Amino acid sequence: MNKIWVVGMGPGSYEEMTVRAVRVLEACETIVGYTVYVDLLKAHFPGKKYVTTPMRQEEARCRIAFEEAGRGRRTAIVCSGDAGIYGMAGLMYEVGGEFPEIEIEVVPGVTAAISGGAVLGAPLGHDCCLISLSDLLTPWETIERRLRAAAEGDFAVSLYNPSSKKRGTYLRRACEILLEYKSADTVCGIVRNIAREGETFELLTLESLKSAETDMFTTVFVGNRETRQMEKKMVTPRGYHYGET
Ligand code: SAH
Repeated sequence: MNKIWVVGMGPGSYEEMTVRAVRVLEACETIVGYTVYVDLLKAHFPGKKYVTTPMRQEEARCRIAFEEAGRGRRTAIVCSGDAGIYGMAGLMYEVGGEFPEIEIEVVPGVTAAISGGAVLGAPLGHDCCLISLSDLLTPWETIERRLRAAAEGDFAVSLYNPSSKKRGTYLRRACEILLEYKSADTVCGIVRNIAREGETFELLTLESLKSAETDMFTTVFVGNRETRQMEKKMVTPRGYHYGET
């Protein structure tokens, strides 16, 4: 039976790929992916056939990958971060229904909440959730309902897709919803270009997050009630009774 690998390549640098992901890509002949991510890989995995498709052509990308694997070539399809988190792993299983002779193996990667969390310190040290603010595939009402539920449950939250050119005001709208439940001085952080050139981070309050500049390579973190700023880092305590006698 032919096999296809769905690989999470981590946030961008070779060092933050898992050893398993590196070994799988080394062994592959064809690597399929979105142009930006494939460009990050080429230097480390020379001599492969690279097939790229632009954004929004995810289904076509999956089909190309299955067709390559069907021709007997060892094929991987790559996603940034983890392939199961706002990535293509789910769609690969759906499209895979048309290719029952090809087995799918998912190789996990370090998602932006984890790699960005490490840049900020320890923002997700307690119960947390991930919410994408992109309404391309999810109705905005659903996103709003989940933001409210996360705020009510006092989860620390990592927000993916905080904005794009077309969705400039979404982060502001999300903050306004969270502010109905959470204090204006809730500790928040943003990380840009995690593990890529130009990586930066910033700590702010929920109030100031409303007008923060973000783009499609930014991940946002909103603390829970206990989250503190310690020196220049964002820490959500696990609950150890440190310092108490
Ligand atoms: N599968 C990816 C997420 C894809 S959704 C993962 O697991 O990380 C795209 C969103 O992920 C971006 O808008 C941004 O919010 C976040 N993201 C992915 N890579 C990033 C990086 N290197 N730096 C900052 N944010 C990133």
